[in-house]
Amino acid sequence: MSIDISKMPKLGFGMMRLPQNENKEIDLPQVCRMVDTYMKAGFNYFDTAYMYCDGRSESVVKEAVVKRYPRESFWLTTKLPQWMMNGIEDRDKIFNDQLERTGAGYFDLYLLHSVEDGANYEGYVKYDCFQWAMKKKEEGKIRHFGFSFHGTPELLDQILTEHPEVEIVQIQLNYIDWNNPLIQSGKLYEVLRRHNVPMLIMEPVKGGTLAQAAPEIEKLMKDVRPESSMASWALRFAASLDGVATVLSGMSDEAQMEDNLNTFQNFEPLTEKEQEVIREVVRAMEKMPTIPCTSCRYCVDGCPQSIQIPDVFRALNTLRSFGETDRAHNYYEKLVKNSGRAADCIACGQCESVCPQHLPIIQLMEEASKELDPK
Ligand code: SF4
Ligand code: SF4
Repeated sequence: MSIDISKMPKLGFGMMRLPQNENKEIDLPQVCRMVDTYMKAGFNYFDTAYMYCDGRSESVVKEAVVKRYPRESFWLTTKLPQWMMNGIEDRDKIFNDQLERTGAGYFDLYLLHSVEDGANYEGYVKYDCFQWAMKKKEEGKIRHFGFSFHGTPELLDQILTEHPEVEIVQIQLNYIDWNNPLIQSGKLYEVLRRHNVPMLIMEPVKGGTLAQAAPEIEKLMKDVRPESSMASWALRFAASLDGVATVLSGMSDEAQMEDNLNTFQNFEPLTEKEQEVIREVVRAMEKMPTIPCTSCRYCVDGCPQSIQIPDVFRALNTLRSFGETDRAHNYYEKLVKNSGRAADCIACGQCESVCPQHLPIIQLMEEASKELDPK
């Protein structure tokens, strides 16, 4: 049975960037409050993955959602990570672990995580994960099957041609990446429309980078909708597109949740005039030197020098985009008290091999070191 996207809510709750308390632990009471607000507002889609929040996200879903709401009242999606599998038996091992962690009994959507060109996709093929997922579907453990995707439009086209059983695909889509040659949101969107496959949207606000901008850029939007946040424009851009089932937002505090609910409860697709404003914003943003890191933190755990890469970029962006030298240095010095400096980078390349944004991290570390480390 193919997926009926009219039954899915337009706003999904991404469980990747959950709020933390002062001890850097996930703030479960706050997550529960956010889940309640979200459900009460009429939305019910939760997106997690085996690796999110260092493996804790699925257990938080159990505490905040599964134990507190009837199973049929919400959609739950999780994902299988190819890069954490050392043999074919790990498919079931991880899957059973996920059932245990979430206590959900079954998954409404089950996705192969972060399919990409090269070894990643070959790994999913080698372990026969497509056929395996179909068996899980027959057993009633998965309702719908798909994958999340960070590769090229050509690979997406190839997979959808070879695997008509795929029901849905999660892609990174936002207005700044529409024509970005490293992401190609626009081309990925076209491929999915051509194959008539509905989509889930991740990074609609590009890890928060489209939620704020230099005052002159923000003004372009404020002049048209003074009451609307920049994030709401980004969410409306994604949700206005045909074929989009659900737009995921990794809401990390209650204020963000409130803003997103306002956007989606009174949803208005972008008008032609607003589309033109977005095009103008893109032109202005493309001239800005901001590093487009989404803070997904996929690169952090494997760094042998314990460099908090996205936080280093945050400091560098404060310098690059706003020229705020003191603020950048203060933030950086506080950061490196307990982690590696940019100067510690040994150019091993681990981070670049996992970065979904394909950032030249080694080169950026050199720049960060030059700008931020003591001479
Ligand atoms: S290249 Fe540098 S920043 Fe990247 S993982 Fe290696 S040491 Fe860490
Ligand atoms: S550098 Fe890449 S992998 Fe690391 S947090 Fe940023 S976007 Fe994610």
